[in-house]
Amino acid sequence: MATSRALDLSSLAEAAERKGVQLLSAADFTHPEWRRELGEKLIGDGSGMFRLKGASRRSPSFILGTEISCVWRDPPVSGRGRRVHLLLIAPDLVAVDALIARFGPHGALGSDGRPLLKLSAHDVADLVFDADEHCEIIPAHVWTPWYGVYGSKSGFDSLEEAFGEHAGRIHAIETGLSSDPGMNWGVPELEERALVSFSDAHSAANVGREVTVFEMEPTYDGLIHAIASQSIAETIEFFPENGKYHLDGHRACGVRLTPAESAAADGICPVCGKKLTLGVLNRIESLSDSESESPIANNGLVAGPASRPPFRRLVPLRDLVAATLGFGTNSKTVGRAIDSLIEHCGSELVALIEADPTELQGAAGDEVAAAIVAVRRGDLEIEPGYDGLYGMVAPKTG
Ligand SMILES: [Zn+2]
Ligand SMILES: [Zn+2]
Repeated sequence: MATSRALDLSSLAEAAERKGVQLLSAADFTHPEWRRELGEKLIGDGSGMFRLKGASRRSPSFILGTEISCVWRDPPVSGRGRRVHLLLIAPDLVAVDALIARFGPHGALGSDGRPLLKLSAHDVADLVFDADEHCEIIPAHVWTPWYGVYGSKSGFDSLEEAFGEHAGRIHAIETGLSSDPGMNWGVPELEERALVSFSDAHSAANVGREVTVFEMEPTYDGLIHAIASQSIAETIEFFPENGKYHLDGHRACGVRLTPAESAAADGICPVCGKKLTLGVLNRIESLSDSESESPIANNGLVAGPASRPPFRRLVPLRDLVAATLGFGTNSKTVGRAIDSLIEHCGSELVALIEADPTELQGAAGDEVAAAIVAVRRGDLEIEPGYDGLYGMVAPKTG
């Protein structure tokens, strides 16, 4: 459900190669048919890393990872409704099968690649670490209102509240599309935890829309060590304003408010009189003890406190080219420009991040080159997203 029909392991690998992504999650491993495909199409190297059978040397590695949706009441039956999305990583297919056996009684694993489990985050952690203690749990897109562990609608104020005695085993959180690491640096309980970013792809075009560049041995243990020790060269982020839940508001009422404005309105929509959907920025501000903002350095990296990996914010290449040339994202003109950029620069990420402006001009023309350079400088016009509506981030050029 909710993913492109064209997604399979080879289209994921092909998309990753075009983007310049070297490590992917194979995803959805609790689904019986997908689990069978993983067994048939991937070969493990014995260290927890997998490759597509028959793939070229440039083809990316896979790890076994998935997203699950936990839905429960706290306390049971009469209590408040909770919904939390979690990412799970497993060291091998034996661990995957142990997870499937434990989750089976708690949800219909065959109905969705991201299964809905009627289990609390705490009870999921019990089952996961019982299945294999080398598994890793990473709360997904933690600030989104409906499914983030800190979300305004059904989340918690701390990881301890959500995971109880397992909180210490949560080594990382995913910042999600609507927040970037800098926004998270002021949250006290995240000081010792890695802030990671992944594609949350749903379709091949979205592979690599957010990326974590780990400094790691290319093994499962190497990855877990890099997560636990924050051995991260950088993360590549959406502009958080681009995300669907950056500010507060009501989409249907056309009301978009900053956290200060919605506080002044007592959290009530001035149009319909109902409660506003409080976005990511609002929740982060309420759980932070300091504000953190950093200038964009020359090379496009935003540097933080010494203990924190830097990050950069990008506009997806397809969106950028489409907006600049004035054609649809799926048009042939945009497709040709992207093909040419990949051919000249090696991958989409190289084109976005480091390719020389003259190389970009040669590949896709002056306008596209200027737009890419403007994004690197942070020279942008921004309309933040809210209440499920994506924001707009466009380069200022000319
Ligand atoms: Zn999710
Ligand atoms: Zn309203």
